[in-house]
Amino acid sequence: MKIVVQVKLLTASAHDADALAATLRACNRAASYTAKVAFETGTYGRNDLQKAVYLDLKGAFDLSAQPAVRVVKKVVDAYNTLRGNIRNGHLTGRARRKAQSKPIVFREDAAQPFDDRCLSWNLDQRTISIWTVAGRLKGIRFACSPQALKLLASRKGESDLVERDGTFFLIATIDLPEPGLHEHSGWLGVDLGIVNIATTNDGDKLSGRRLNRYRKRMRTTVAKLQAKRTKSAKRRLKALRRRESRFATDTNHVISKRIVVIAERTSRGIALEDLKGIRQRVTAKKEQRYGLHSWAFAQLGSFVEYKAKRVGVPVVRVDPRNTSRQCSECRHTHRSNRVSQAWFACRSCGVVMNADLNSSRNIAHRADAVWQRGKVNCPSTA
Ligand SMILES: [Zn+2]
Repeated sequence: MKIVVQVKLLTASAHDADALAATLRACNRAASYTAKVAFETGTYGRNDLQKAVYLDLKGAFDLSAQPAVRVVKKVVDAYNTLRGNIRNGHLTGRARRKAQSKPIVFREDAAQPFDDRCLSWNLDQRTISIWTVAGRLKGIRFACSPQALKLLASRKGESDLVERDGTFFLIATIDLPEPGLHEHSGWLGVDLGIVNIATTNDGDKLSGRRLNRYRKRMRTTVAKLQAKRTKSAKRRLKALRRRESRFATDTNHVISKRIVVIAERTSRGIALEDLKGIRQRVTAKKEQRYGLHSWAFAQLGSFVEYKAKRVGVPVVRVDPRNTSRQCSECRHTHRSNRVSQAWFACRSCGVVMNADLNSSRNIAHRADAVWQRGKVNCPSTA
């Protein structure tokens, strides 16, 4: 599995920063030139295109051999992506005609890949040495977390140089071996919902009071700002939405990590609902709607899958239909079983329990069925 590690370059002098900026500019101008040649001559194959532009890239754009090769590859990849987007129907109508009518143009600060010949890492010293149009820069220090440093030890291949607001970063791709799936018995069922973001079949509510307080405060603030309709209110609303989205991402990281840790510690797999239907399934009351639409359930699900994969915990998605209406004790399903937002009371066997807990138990049961079916179909995963 591929994961991405970002390190921040601590450019000590203005000269270093200028050299990096000039390098990105030169590479991207060279890429735009190469894209133009490709477009005008219909040369989209890597070898032919390289033959056509190689001398120019080295001469007119000051690139050395490896960066020139990387630039050609970047252009070939960009046209492949464009063709893919057209084929998949992501680009249609006017947008498609526009994209096809002229060569691809690269922003002057677009990311540029560097391979091991143009970029070397010294992890002990936390420095890099990198080729630039102003000569090789050596001993450039970088900052990253201890975990990221550990991951960088298994780095292979290219890293991207990018610039954001005057600061340079290297983005390295790490190819980690996928751990085999753990032996597991049973499932940690997780019900996702509005009031409680995540409830497990152990009865744990993972959203926490802090989150609910935050959302309540946001609802009031947003309502007030929406009522104002002034320009500054609109601006503040926009800033607020961005802050909320960051908060949601952070919270999703925390919740997904806890889910995976619980599953790993108790040797269980993780069962989640297939989220495609969640908006239709959840009939939100008006005051809850703000929270529902702004909550990134899909993101939470993908964080859980990603973190689980890294430690070999299996994840299955189950059919979400009627998980809130079915009794997890006797499997009787009826709309009136769900008596309120908070409570479930079975009309058949009489069991009464927290509604989210009931749903999460159903999700765990269903995961078992899905897993058994999967095992029969592909014995290698058993
Ligand atoms: Zn029942």
